[in-house]
Amino acid sequence: MEHADVIIVGSGHGGASAAIALRQQGFEGSVMMIGRENNLPYERPPLSKEYLAGTKPFERILIRPEAFWAERNVTLRLGNAVSAIDPMTKTVTLTDKSEVRYGSLIWSAGGNPRRMSCAGCDLEGIHTVRDLADADRMMAELEGGSRRAVVVGGGYIGLEAAAVLTKFECQVTLLEAQDRVLSRVAGEELSAFYEAEHSAHGADVRTGANVEAFEGEGVKVSGVKLASGEVIPADIVVVGIGIVPAIGPLIAAGAAGANGVEVDEYCLTSLEDVYAIGDCAAHANPYAGGAVIRLESVQNANDMAKVAASTIMGEGEPYSAFPWFWSNQYDLKLQTAGLSLDYDKAVTRGDPASRSFSVVYLKEGRVIAVDCVNSVKDYVQGRKLIEARAEPDTELLADAETPLKELL
Ligand code: FAD
Repeated sequence: MEHADVIIVGSGHGGASAAIALRQQGFEGSVMMIGRENNLPYERPPLSKEYLAGTKPFERILIRPEAFWAERNVTLRLGNAVSAIDPMTKTVTLTDKSEVRYGSLIWSAGGNPRRMSCAGCDLEGIHTVRDLADADRMMAELEGGSRRAVVVGGGYIGLEAAAVLTKFECQVTLLEAQDRVLSRVAGEELSAFYEAEHSAHGADVRTGANVEAFEGEGVKVSGVKLASGEVIPADIVVVGIGIVPAIGPLIAAGAAGANGVEVDEYCLTSLEDVYAIGDCAAHANPYAGGAVIRLESVQNANDMAKVAASTIMGEGEPYSAFPWFWSNQYDLKLQTAGLSLDYDKAVTRGDPASRSFSVVYLKEGRVIAVDCVNSVKDYVQGRKLIEARAEPDTELLADAETPLKELL
């Protein structure tokens, strides 16, 4: 039976970073990366941004050029998923029925897009955006002339997709079930700003809008029916309502977890020599006051990969990486630092109407997160306030003329 000293499951951000980190840290054993997709590891964020807009081709979103993997002696088994793990014999089974033994296993399988379960949800023309094939299918339909677009879900991916769709001159309706977009991840000021921006770009933004069913003509979607009874005509629908962690084989093998695989501060699961990283890893995060959460960000996948690699090398440092994230919509660059979960006060710096402003989130007087729109300076200096657990005067904080670094 084949053997690899380290098997990495998933060839996305976490998987690729784990292989890179192992080699950078001097790991000399055999490394095999098993990925369900056929493609070389690529960056996922452009799929709802520049790649979808057609301004960045696939070659430019590769995490590393093709030759890199062979040069670093990383064996790629692409187009093949891991369907089972036997933690006793330390063996994985692939969908092609082959088996490979591992010394250590790094599970970085991300998540699958959460799907709607209502009537008509399987009609053609209803898309999710998680991988390259999803984006390619959407782009082909847009090139084919689909112009009435409905986006279900006002999280970052839905909003980014909506922004790109307007570039294709689509008539966009954005449906969000909650009373504001971005309600899970940001404060009210930011939600109101993005709702106004999308409206100004011609999108019809509907909050408190619950989808009841999709209607079709033949096999193709033709409309989205709301709980109110209204039907919004649609040629193309994008559903961006989150992910379900891809952890089936791990849980079946006995790993602890439910919404994500539970890992400790070294990214170790409850199974011996099995690590989990990235979107699927539920961990106690110091920037969330120790709460067990999953983070869906490139930063988290990359930093957890480094922790798992260094633990395998016997030099593990506990995971304590600073959380950050970005989102590009239209000409707006949002940069987020820290985690705003459970904030009790939000202070806005600058005028949102100027399209350059920040929101600083505090908990019990301490700065825990910043959302900065077209405001790099506040982002850079805001990070320092979070790291220092600063307790600034909120009047000064609200004064955009006072640099954040002066409030340290
Ligand atoms: P992934 O990168 O999703 O990789 C998981 C891989 O595992 C996939 O290729 C999957 O096919 C494969 N896989 C699944 N099951 C198996 C199996 N059983 N066997 C083998 N392979 C398997 N983050 C940001 O920080 N900023 C952004 O602007 C941003 N934008 C985004 C836009 C989009 C459209 C998407 C989808 C995500 C975005 N993210 C963004 C999130 C970021 O891409 C993820 O957090 C990151 O990719 C997580 O890395 P991962 O390795 O955990 O999962």
